[in-house]
Amino acid sequence: MADFSIDPAFQEQLDWIRKFVKTEVEPLDLAFAGEDMVYNKASAFYEEAIRPLQQVVKDRGLWSCHLTPEYGGQGYGQVQLAYMNEILGRSQFGPTVFGNQAPDSGNAEIIAHYGTAEQKAKYLEPLLDGRISSCYSMTEPQGGADPGVFTCSAVRDGDEWVIDGEKWFSSSLRYASFLIVMVITDPDVAVHKGASMFLVPADSPGIEVVRNVGVGQEHDGHGGHAYVRYNSVRVPADHLLGGEGQAFAIAQTRLGGGRLHHAMRTVGAVSRCLDMLCERALSRTTQGELLARKQATQEKIADSFIELLQFKLQVLHAAWVVDQKGGHGARKEIAAVKVATPKVYREAVLRTMQLHGALGVSNEMPLANMLMASVTMGIADGPTEVHKFTVAREVLKDYSPAEGDWPSEHLPERRAAARAEYADLLERSVADL
Ligand SMILES: Cc1cc2nc3c(=O)[nH]c(=O)nc-3n(C[C@H](O)[C@H](O)[C@H](O)COP(=O)(O)OP(=O)(O)OC[C@H]3O[C@@H](n4cnc5c(N)ncnc54)[C@H](O)[C@@H]3O)c2cc1C
Repeated sequence: MADFSIDPAFQEQLDWIRKFVKTEVEPLDLAFAGEDMVYNKASAFYEEAIRPLQQVVKDRGLWSCHLTPEYGGQGYGQVQLAYMNEILGRSQFGPTVFGNQAPDSGNAEIIAHYGTAEQKAKYLEPLLDGRISSCYSMTEPQGGADPGVFTCSAVRDGDEWVIDGEKWFSSSLRYASFLIVMVITDPDVAVHKGASMFLVPADSPGIEVVRNVGVGQEHDGHGGHAYVRYNSVRVPADHLLGGEGQAFAIAQTRLGGGRLHHAMRTVGAVSRCLDMLCERALSRTTQGELLARKQATQEKIADSFIELLQFKLQVLHAAWVVDQKGGHGARKEIAAVKVATPKVYREAVLRTMQLHGALGVSNEMPLANMLMASVTMGIADGPTEVHKFTVAREVLKDYSPAEGDWPSEHLPERRAAARAEYADLLERSVADL
């Protein structure tokens, strides 16, 4: 039986998070916006403004809730994380303050899962403690959605591996202490079997940042996504993460939960859009009446509310399926959420922008940035088209071809079968006429 009630003790935590984010975290978004502030853990700002807030979160028992207690987290299930991330999604600093900022959260998950004791001590512990940042370096300039075109490779040389090649959109590299790099280690087999992952210290000789790429209207060179070249970068053999050829299994572990977490935070962003939309509708007057009284506005509000509700339920359901069956068993639901996320977000932003007129598209509202964020949701972690393919493939697994020449819903065939079943009764009814 479906039950949408929330355990009172957890509701108390959610109420606390909501208040804390509103009063302590959201002001940081306004006073200190920007990639640098969120990711640069070596800055004085981070030390003075972020760390004390992180300590409050730790004391409250809400730090890195996506991780198991063994790694200092709370071991929350995905449904609990969905409610929590919805609140954090309203603030740029929210995930950082609560210890579940991408890409560190996903990177921590895979080191926890596949790392050796030494790798965990060297990379995972300071990462979990929020002392260092990390980077995930997989996409290449010639393609991201199709790993079959990847060429960045590593060759074994004694006790070391030597990495050569290029990667594209390696987010937050400029603040990272280490990178997780996916490379081809066996070019003679299919990429799904011949790719491996390495933990690479960011100060390794040979790592060349060609440039940092920005999104939207970020200034040249100030973006957070590195175009990076690996020029014979040497890493010790014990820096292989998992086994040789295991990169794809590792990547799936990383993306399962992470993909949903973006969607959970998007629920928060979409509900923020609805708040702005409704406030505007009740505040702005045109032709002698409030915008809220115009039918066209009411349609916007209804559509935004309905889509938010549908999306939130979809995300919660997918989270529940992950809790029941694990990420692999929830492939269809996760991919379906990935398809819905940019669409619902974009439509919500566009309606809210429209109702704000010139102000809506100006840089005095958060909406233009939100619009760009909605578009990136359809590209980062794989394009929408690829997720649609996954949904269709998984849905089709529950079906089989029609028996014979006609569809199973073909009415003449079904009618003939039904009539044959009720032949006696039909005969008697006709006789009674
Ligand atoms: C904000 C942001 C952050 C990112 N961070 C990282 C990161 O930290 N590390 C990292 O390694 N990568 C990162 N990426 C890269 C991201 O993973 C890739 O952009 C993504 O996998 C798509 O690859 P691509 O950009 O090369 O597009 P392509 O693979 O060239 O695809 C381009 C377009 O072609 C179409 N297309 C592609 N495949 C198909 C298909 N099978 N069927 C139909 N149409 C298709 C889609 O419209 C797609 O958008 C990030 C991207 C963004 C936007």
